[in-house]
Amino acid sequence: MDGDSNPRRWSRVALSSRTVQPAWATLSLPSRSEIASRGSNIIDLVMRPVDRRMMYEPGTFVFLRVPDMEGQQKELHPFSISSSPVDRDLRVSIRTVGDFTRRLPSIESGTRLEVYGPFGGFTPHRFAHFRRLVFIGAGIGITPFLGMLAFELSNHDFRRIWLYYVVRDDRGRGL
Ligand SMILES: Cc1cc2nc3c(=O)[nH]c(=O)nc-3n(C[C@H](O)[C@H](O)[C@H](O)COP(=O)(O)OP(=O)(O)OC[C@H]3O[C@@H](n4cnc5c(N)ncnc54)[C@H](O)[C@@H]3O)c2cc1C
Repeated sequence: MDGDSNPRRWSRVALSSRTVQPAWATLSLPSRSEIASRGSNIIDLVMRPVDRRMMYEPGTFVFLRVPDMEGQQKELHPFSISSSPVDRDLRVSIRTVGDFTRRLPSIESGTRLEVYGPFGGFTPHRFAHFRRLVFIGAGIGITPFLGMLAFELSNHDFRRIWLYYVVRDDRGRGL
């Protein structure tokens, strides 16, 4: 068995990827159209890396800051990543509920955003040896599953996944 096909070697690689220190990344909104409404007070915020992509696992979350947002310059807000690690752009899907999130739909194209992360251990490699999975997401809590499902579609692993999405009413079906 050569080095790359040795399962022990691969598990060492996977473990060491978890020890990577979280870091700041500076991202910008590529164009105005990259804030898309999903209806019912939910938006997709799609951010393009200014210099390099953030490496992350599906299911993790980041802290987001908008340095130019008046009165909120120092606030860090956590959001699950809803894009797949294979995508160039980083996407978060946000329910606009309060001071910070309600102002996000009006930020300008090209605005610099700071993203700190990734954080969290709710990631698919924890259940890598299961061939059948059931995901249950409620409301905006569906977001980490969106990233996991997008990644599963690209990795040709042919696992079977059932997703149950629980919403209060029809308005919550945007995601
Ligand atoms: C690990 C993690 C992952 C998350 N992932 C996501 C995600 O993917 N998508 C997402 O949309 N959210 C996510 N959240 C939640 C998100 O971080 C918060 O919704 C966001 O930071 C709220 O910021 P805000 O300033 O807009 O709201 P805030 O102003 O902080 O308000 C938050 C809530 O409190 C209520 N509130 C505020 N002030 C009062 C008051 N005086 N009296 C009564 N109620 C009040 C608001 O109406 C609102 O419902 C996540 C949170 C965590 C911890």
